[in-house]
Amino acid sequence: MASSKRSLSFRESVDHMVDRALKFLNLDEGVSNAIKACNCVLKVQFPVKIRGELQVFTGWRAVHSTHRLPAKGGIRFAPMVNQDEIEALAALMTYKCAIVDVPFGGSKGGLLIDPQQYTRDELQLITRRFTVELVRKGFLSPATNVPAPDMGTGQREMAWMADTYKHLYPEDINYTACVTGKPVGHGGIRGRTEATGRGVQYALQEFFRHADSVRKANLAPGLGGQRIIVQGFGNVGYHAAKFLSEEDDARIIAIIDRAGVVWDENGLNIEDLQQYKLQHKSIKGYPNARFDENGQAAMEMACDILIPAALEAQITADNAPRIQARLIAEAANGPVTFEADEYLRNKGVVILPDAYVNAGGVIVSYFEWIRNLSHIRFGRIQRRFDEQRGHHISTALQELTGNQLSEHLHTKLTVGADELALVRSGLDDTMREAFQNIKAIYDANEHIQDYRMAAYVTAVEKISRTYLDLGVY
Ligand code: GLU
Repeated sequence: MASSKRSLSFRESVDHMVDRALKFLNLDEGVSNAIKACNCVLKVQFPVKIRGELQVFTGWRAVHSTHRLPAKGGIRFAPMVNQDEIEALAALMTYKCAIVDVPFGGSKGGLLIDPQQYTRDELQLITRRFTVELVRKGFLSPATNVPAPDMGTGQREMAWMADTYKHLYPEDINYTACVTGKPVGHGGIRGRTEATGRGVQYALQEFFRHADSVRKANLAPGLGGQRIIVQGFGNVGYHAAKFLSEEDDARIIAIIDRAGVVWDENGLNIEDLQQYKLQHKSIKGYPNARFDENGQAAMEMACDILIPAALEAQITADNAPRIQARLIAEAANGPVTFEADEYLRNKGVVILPDAYVNAGGVIVSYFEWIRNLSHIRFGRIQRRFDEQRGHHISTALQELTGNQLSEHLHTKLTVGADELALVRSGLDDTMREAFQNIKAIYDANEHIQDYRMAAYVTAVEKISRTYLDLGVY
């Protein structure tokens, strides 16, 4: 479908989506503009000596909002990043944090680099140099701006960043809180790596708890048995697909990634596919399912739920008319463009928006940040106490009833929650509550016909309240 109109940039696309909520809330134009404006953007260009030659790297860190501090958001290392994209992603972080009640502003960073082209030691050098730029210019600290992993970065990069900050400010007692997503041995929290994928699972579980929402999406009740296509087999796509298939009995009928699509109508074994990918560096050639190189077209295959978990702008005005899914759960940031969103909305396709669905990462980052500031692992003080109390309750029940408790019940009663259990419980609770808030707004207003608009209305209401309560300074 050739379009004569210039398609919107990523940032414009996000702004247009927010505009619908702003218009609905009838906010003062000044406040609306203040909410949408990106507060500041740092662009750095710095040299690093690689294999005897100086190479200049370009990076950005955008701070969209500081209505709460620190500003929070990942740093991506990718060969295609640009300032518009980073600003769009920083804005999404602001709305995301507001939707799930995480008390942070929104920020995002990016480094223009193809990590595949560099050795581990070279990447360490580049990451540490980028970190010095960010710290020196006031764009990285536990109090004001806290990065996290994103595309092309992970625990390893976060550990290098935290260590660089520590060397610059050893007297800062909270130095570990300067980034989240660190390895557990260096102040990270259990459950952070898989948090975004878990959050996607919890979002879908919560959606399927609401029979009216499920009916409206023309889906059969229950997550079990739903036919799901996942686009993207990185950290988020892999974990979401794994948990949904192994724990909810959903059928992952296709996994799409850069190499193409692997599919099986009966459902893929995700862990098996992951092991194959780790061994062969690609899903291509996976022997236990069918493969096709045209991954993009596979998003248009018949299915119940489509989970885009890769890049932005994957569902556009061009391919939206051919999408057959009834429900789209946006695990990536910005996978559906504004134009495609409009088309799909009118067609009755239900979309669970990115700023809600993929918030699991920043929710658990929030827990990690708190753990770092309190300098103690969750559960450390009360775990044995809870366990003992459980034993007393179990004994009391047996004495009072004269019956032996089943082994299963006894174990359930006497377990003291460890850090991972608490993180999962906090994440699950946050995802459930956020959906219920979004749904309440959706149900209460006939002018709100989609979850994205409802989610943005909740976000904008909260953000505008801080502007109105505190005044502009
Ligand atoms: N990069 C992730 C996101 O886009 C996580 C951000 C964070 O934990 O701060 O939400």
